[in-house]
Amino acid sequence: MNILVTGGAGYIGSICVEELVKQGHSVSVIDNLQEGHREAVQPKAVFYEGSFGDKQLLSTIFKTHKIDAVIHFAAETTVEFSMTDPQLYFINNVVNGVNLLEVMKDNGCKRFIFSSTAATFGEPEHTPIDEKHTQKPINAYGESKLMFEKILDWYHSAYGFKFNAFRYFNAAGASERLGEDHRHESHLIPIVLKTALDVQNNRRTKGLKVFGQDYPTKDGTCVRDYIHVVDLAKAHILALENLEIHSNAKYNMGNGKGFSVLEVIEIAKKITGLDIPFEFAKKRAGDPAILVASSDKISSEAGWKPDYPSLETIIKTAWEWHSRHPNGYSV
Ligand code: UDP
Repeated sequence: MNILVTGGAGYIGSICVEELVKQGHSVSVIDNLQEGHREAVQPKAVFYEGSFGDKQLLSTIFKTHKIDAVIHFAAETTVEFSMTDPQLYFINNVVNGVNLLEVMKDNGCKRFIFSSTAATFGEPEHTPIDEKHTQKPINAYGESKLMFEKILDWYHSAYGFKFNAFRYFNAAGASERLGEDHRHESHLIPIVLKTALDVQNNRRTKGLKVFGQDYPTKDGTCVRDYIHVVDLAKAHILALENLEIHSNAKYNMGNGKGFSVLEVIEIAKKITGLDIPFEFAKKRAGDPAILVASSDKISSEAGWKPDYPSLETIIKTAWEWHSRHPNGYSV
C-alpha cells in the first residue's frame, strides 16, 4: 500500500514507519520537525518537511504518491500545555485534522488510522477502561482528540471513510534504532532514565520529581499502563489490514496492568543498577489517578497480542536506546 504517515519523524510515528517499511509498504512522511527528528525517518520513506495543515503540500503528496491510506500521528500532545494554551490544541488537533480529511476526500482516499489517547476518558469510573467507558476528558488535549474521534464518525457515516482510532495509554520503550527524544521531555520513563544517565556519568541531575503522593492508589502515586511502542506500531498495521471488516472501530491500547510512578522508578533502578534520586512535588494539572486499559477488543477483533508486555522489557529497551543516544538524536 502507499501510505502517508503524518508525524512520521516523531517517537511513535517513526517506529510505525520502520515497521511499515519492513513489511514492504511504500511510505511518505510529513512532519514539521517541531517535535520530530529528521534522523528518525526511515531512509526508504519519502520525507516532506511541512505541516499537515498545509493543504497544498498535502495535495501534492496525494497526487505524487497515489496515497491509499493515512496514519495520523502528528498532533499537539502535552497535557500540561493544553491546560494553559488550549487554542493550539484545537487548531492543530481539530482544524488541521479536518483539512487533512478534506484533502483525502478530494483525492478519493478514505482509509484512516488515528492516534487518539486515553486522555479522552478523563477520570476512570471503572478500571480497566474498556471501549464502553464514558469519555469525559479533564484536559484540553483529551478534549481535542475526542472531538476528532467524533468527526471521524461523521466522515464514516456521511462519506464512507473507514477508520480506526487508537486510544494510547502510555507508550514507552524503543526499537533498536529508534527511541523517545522529545524536545520538551515531560514523560516519566525518559525522565527517569535520563536521571539514571546523569547518575552514571556523575553529572548533576535536573531532579526527578514525582508529581503527587496522595492519589487514591496503592502507594499514593499515579498509576499508568505502559505499552511497548513496537507493539503499538504493529497494531496500526494490523488495523489497516482489518479496515474492510472493522471500518469504524475505536480501540484502547495498553497491557491491562497498572504501575505506580514509584514502581516505575524501582524497576528502572533494578534495570540500570543505579540509584535514581527523586523528590515529591505537587500534583500536575490534568493528571487522572489511574489509567489502565482493557485491550480485549483489539485482541479479539484484530488478533493483536503484545510481544513485549512486561514493564521490565519496556524499560530495558528504552535504557539500551538512551545509553546509546545519551543526547537523543543530536549525537
Ligand atoms: N510523572 C512524574 N514525574 C515526571 C513525569 C511524569 O511523576 O517527571 C507522572 C505523571 O504525573 C503521571 C505519570 O508519571 O502520573 C506518567 O506521566 P507521563 O507524562 O509519562 O504520561 P501521561 O500519563 O501524562 O500520558
